[in-house]
Amino acid sequence: MTEDPNNLSCAAFQARLPELIGSGENIAAHPHIHSCEICRALLADLMTIAEAARQLFPIVEPPDRLWEQIESAIRNEDGGSVQP
Ligand SMILES: [Zn+2]
Repeated sequence: MTEDPNNLSCAAFQARLPELIGSGENIAAHPHIHSCEICRALLADLMTIAEAARQLFPIVEPPDRLWEQIESAIRNEDGGSVQP
């Protein structure tokens, strides 16, 4: 398994998402987002959730903690809806 950012698997990309978001990187410009419809949709969902979470928990949690919670929330409710 290589770490070519242009050829990440969805799992590898999604595992890295919180890190990318936490680092303030422009994820919408990530090569995987451009090539992968599934992760593009996931990112849109994440942004919606993040926005809602920000309104629900203003400044209470540091971003790292928040993303962990969002991530685990998504895993918990993942019923396979992103399967092709
Ligand atoms: Zn993907």
